[in-house]
Amino acid sequence: MSRVYNFSAGPSMLPESVLNLAAAEMLDYKGSGQSVMEMSHRSKIYEEIIFGAQALMREVMNVPDNYKILFMQGGASGQFAAVPLNLLNGSGKADYALSGQFSTKAYKEAQKYGDVKAVCSSKEQNFSCIPEVDPAQLTPDADYFHFCHNNTIYGTRWTKIPETGNVPLVADISSSFLSQPMDISKFGVLYGGAQKNVAPAGLTVVIVREDLIGNAHPTTPAVLDYKNMADNDSMYNTPPCYSIYMCKLVLEWVKKMGGLEAMKQRNEQKAKILYDFIDSSNMFSNPVKHSDRSVMNVTFVTESDELNAKFVKEAAEAGFVNLKGHRSVGGMRASIYNAMPIEGVEKLVEFMKSFEEKNS
Ligand SMILES: *Cc1c(COP(=O)(O)O)cnc(C)c1O
Repeated sequence: MSRVYNFSAGPSMLPESVLNLAAAEMLDYKGSGQSVMEMSHRSKIYEEIIFGAQALMREVMNVPDNYKILFMQGGASGQFAAVPLNLLNGSGKADYALSGQFSTKAYKEAQKYGDVKAVCSSKEQNFSCIPEVDPAQLTPDADYFHFCHNNTIYGTRWTKIPETGNVPLVADISSSFLSQPMDISKFGVLYGGAQKNVAPAGLTVVIVREDLIGNAHPTTPAVLDYKNMADNDSMYNTPPCYSIYMCKLVLEWVKKMGGLEAMKQRNEQKAKILYDFIDSSNMFSNPVKHSDRSVMNVTFVTESDELNAKFVKEAAEAGFVNLKGHRSVGGMRASIYNAMPIEGVEKLVEFMKSFEEKNS
């Protein structure tokens, strides 16, 4: 068997030890004689999995007691609607920071539900940097302020959390979930699709402060209503059972690896190896503002589309797959989430070096 180095932005690599454990438990989960895929979500044995996953996430992410962890569906995109439906209940106003495609989608979705304002944007810079937040532009009585913590497509990230006073911060953390410690108490809501760094696709995790729960708009679909999901322990309807099981295994792996502080160090180390090489290269460059560089998604380009295409093709043949940049930006992108080993990045750099030698 040979496995490739998979630099996909999502769904993406999972730790090999997690896949091996899942494989070993596939036909007979802990003596139950069934696969986790087949068991009732109302069974005792499954409850241990879902409640275990929630408890472990609370522990690993250091989630305070006054926050609920909800396992939902519909992806981060579903939350683009769920957030305004649940939170736009005071002034009916919200502020959005536009730092890329996903935050712009979130903003557009929220416009269906209330008086929503884009208070800063880096669109003019092709989202190659994080926009400045000017406090004078913020809506003092906004129900929340929304931003996307790591911009998966453009390869940028917020290095400091915006200051919004009493206005609750809502963050899309789809592509930075579990990648570094975060002070959860600074946020009203954190949400993300699991398929980047937490589990296979299908699971959406929402971490929400309790006082923000319970005032959803009356038209909110039951499956998007935080109160309904919290009251029913995320099992109002059938949850994405297998993804939740995989999430639990990934969290066990993160804990064993030393937790989020260890993840952060490892991720920064990987990103440094790649950025250092790109910065020293005459062929490859990284098109984003250096101080805003993402640790998870490293974008790079050569001087031409032809050379980019050649690189992506030859890299895939050499076992480095999914390096093509997002269709809206072109170039290359190496997503180096938690599960990417350091040696995967080192080998990619070796490959890039030899490509540069042969093609210049
Ligand atoms: C992938 C991604 C999304 C979209 O997630 P879905 O689960 O496919 O809806 C949204 N935001 C960010 C930051 C992402 O990386």
